Amino acid sequence: MDANTPHVIVGASLAGASAARTLREEGWQGPLVLIGEESELPYERPPLSKGYLMGAEPREKVFVHPQEWYREQRIDLRLGTRVTAVDPAAHRITLQDGATLDYAKLLLTTGSSPRPLPVPGAELDGVHYLRTLGDSDRLRAAFRSADRIAVIGAGWIGLEAAAAARGAGVQVAVLESAGLPLLRVLGPEVAEVFAALHRDHDVQLHFGVQVQSLTGGPDGVTGVRLADGTVVEADAVLIGIGITPNTALAQAAGITVENGVKTDQSLRTSDPDVFAAGDVANAYHPLLGRHLRVEHWANAVHQPRTAARAMLGQDVAFDRTPYFFTDQYDLGMEYTGYVEPGGYDRVVFRGDVAAREFIAFWLSGGRVLAGMNVNVWDVTDPIRELVRSGRVVDLAKLADPAVPLTELPDAG
Ligand SMILES: Cc1cc2nc3c(=O)[nH]c(=O)nc-3n(C[C@H](O)[C@H](O)[C@H](O)COP(=O)(O)OP(=O)(O)OC[C@H]3O[C@@H](n4cnc5c(N)ncnc54)[C@H](O)[C@@H]3O)c2cc1C
Repeated sequence: MDANTPHVIVGASLAGASAARTLREEGWQGPLVLIGEESELPYERPPLSKGYLMGAEPREKVFVHPQEWYREQRIDLRLGTRVTAVDPAAHRITLQDGATLDYAKLLLTTGSSPRPLPVPGAELDGVHYLRTLGDSDRLRAAFRSADRIAVIGAGWIGLEAAAAARGAGVQVAVLESAGLPLLRVLGPEVAEVFAALHRDHDVQLHFGVQVQSLTGGPDGVTGVRLADGTVVEADAVLIGIGITPNTALAQAAGITVENGVKTDQSLRTSDPDVFAAGDVANAYHPLLGRHLRVEHWANAVHQPRTAARAMLGQDVAFDRTPYFFTDQYDLGMEYTGYVEPGGYDRVVFRGDVAAREFIAFWLSGGRVLAGMNVNVWDVTDPIRELVRSGRVVDLAKLADPAVPLTELPDAG
């Protein structure tokens, strides 16, 4: 390996662009190649289910950097290019056209893909997934032509798209196998807030249902048949039942894959010269004392910065507190922290839940594991402090909006 051997990043989206930027900022002057399968410049996905989907945010605004930036930074950006193999022993990757490229260090930011719904009819016209710019364009077009849309899955993507569809005047039915939306992430106490939000916007909510098939024919989808025989009629269907990390490259290369590409706290995989970050990485989190794969924007921005530093030989660890956000109708929310499904013993509310202006805290043994501020702003820093401190706090004061979060006493 000589000084002309590039650092190579596979996956030209948010995480890939973030790593490329940090490599330059941290002084890497040598060759740098960023390879992506999509033909678009690296872009941000959150607007695809919000402002961009609603037509409120222009296309130019979703791109992480303009084209010139990659030129100025001497980043060899290869779009529309799929990497088909990694050979860690030879430090070499293969591209779809059979060409090969040697690397000094390799970063995998291959992200994730929507989980397909394995039912008859899922291939019909008018059935959508939402991951790419093209998906968002097609869904927006469907909002114009459809009177009724069925959304399968009441997760973040499904609920945000439901809100966008209502904004476009489309009737919406949400079909979810669990008893409430977002139940695994939020638990029943807070999930109910999102059910009420969508009910108040005239979304038809079907919980505890199983999808048996999608109905329709050559003219496209006409509805969703549930296991109990009910058919929910729809002119378009959006499937949002989760994502799976794009691990095939790593797996075939013999790199350890376990719910994503497994890394240590510096984002190094089981191969010392291969790193992973963003949606695809299942990284050891030193504060949580476990591996965690995070499928959110902030992680795709920050984690690759640590990976880039590690690629340059710096002794670094990624220990940021997980954070994500959503916007639905007039509800804006930020969530800071991490709670395993069912891994809390109490929820404390501060503020007015009915008015959707509050903070919810998930606790275990009196310690705040996570906090979610809904239409309350500029509190992420103190919530993060509470989570990181591991303090056993006074619950009455935690619930009292008159007591600043920065002045909470410990439990007496
Ligand atoms: C519609 C939508 C809305 C979202 N809203 C929010 C939100 O409100 N808040 C939030 O916190 N998060 C949100 N997210 C999640 C957030 O966008 C993701 O966490 C983030 O995009 C992950 O970035 P990434 O770069 O790791 O992966 P990705 O964005 O998945 O990018 C991976 C890239 O790698 C490419 N690739 C894969 N394999 C190869 C290969 N073999 N060769 C070449 N290229 C390859 C893919 O084509 C893709 O372009 C949303 C996601 C979506 C889809």
